[in-house]
Amino acid sequence: MTAYQGTAPTIRLRPSVYQALGKHLASNLPHEACGVLLGAAAAGGMRIDTYVPMRNVAPDPLHAFVPHPADWVSALFMTPPPVGLFHSHPRSAPLPSAADYAGLQGLEEHFAVYLIGAPGSAAGEFIRLNGYGITRTRTGQGSLSLGLAEAQLQLLLK
Ligand SMILES: [Zn+2]
Repeated sequence: MTAYQGTAPTIRLRPSVYQALGKHLASNLPHEACGVLLGAAAAGGMRIDTYVPMRNVAPDPLHAFVPHPADWVSALFMTPPPVGLFHSHPRSAPLPSAADYAGLQGLEEHFAVYLIGAPGSAAGEFIRLNGYGITRTRTGQGSLSLGLAEAQLQLLLK
């Protein structure tokens, strides 16, 4: 776990979203699953109301995710647009990889939340889920560098 001293937001998930993430993760195995998260800023953090699965068309879907272009375009034209991105790590811990960091660059401004899921490891555990806030730091040249800050995940009661 990375120590994070800043003000990463609390990410609150509706139970239906948690269920949908776990189902999509499981149904895509052994491939990575991916999709976008719909929600809004709420109570000093982000509330995730809906998960919209996307097809993974990566050449190597066992180890990577690339959203189907049509799914990606239709997600970007949603009103309001998605606030977050989800994908799964079928065989490794739900921690951001070097490829994940590289894939962040260029994500539109409305993406604030990044969730990574892995299959549950304990009996009865549905999904292991880590949540991150997407950070944007302006570099000396004026370009944006995107990063991830560990966030608190909370499951809403309804
Ligand atoms: Zn990943």
